[in-house]
Amino acid sequence: MPLTPLHYPVAYGLHRLQGRLPLPGLIVGSFIPDIEVPILWVFDRGVPDHLILHSLLGLLTLGMLLSVLITHYLYPPLVANIFRVERLGLNKACSLGTALYLSCLVGLLGHLALDLPMHWFNPVLWPWIDPYTIVGILVLLLAPEGDLQAGFALANSLVSSVMLVALLGIAWKCRHSLWTNMLLGESSASSNEPIQ
Ligand SMILES: [Zn+2]
Repeated sequence: MPLTPLHYPVAYGLHRLQGRLPLPGLIVGSFIPDIEVPILWVFDRGVPDHLILHSLLGLLTLGMLLSVLITHYLYPPLVANIFRVERLGLNKACSLGTALYLSCLVGLLGHLALDLPMHWFNPVLWPWIDPYTIVGILVLLLAPEGDLQAGFALANSLVSSVMLVALLGIAWKCRHSLWTNMLLGESSASSNEPIQ
């Protein structure tokens, strides 16, 4: 996987494409699947470190539940207190409703879409299809002589580099009001009313 914060450009890009989807839900949704990685490391019982939250089944149930709860209850106070982003705007962007549910869902799916091509196993259809039978297209293209681990390392480096450049570009673009623009959404997008 790219480091979890490197999923941010996908969330930001989706918000720019569809400004009526609040950025906080997209960000939280795009980060949530990776919270299972350290947990699965701790409970290492021979299962892959990407499993439940990287499957469509887990994503549409537990992933959605966690994303909505965290975006609604934790995101506004944390971002307001740590990054000094205006609380009223956060509360509005994180209020429960269709816009929040959709933004969390799109953020979660965006996470899977970025992970899928660059992993040598994908639990996207777990528990019905063995994750090790779904190999990312980038891994296959970059695997020297079929060495999937080496292909993954190359695919990971490539995707992470592209995402890092995108993240720095976004930060530069948002520099005049960095945290508000990056964590709440740019004022230009707020002219669009959120989906009710
Ligand atoms: Zn992931």
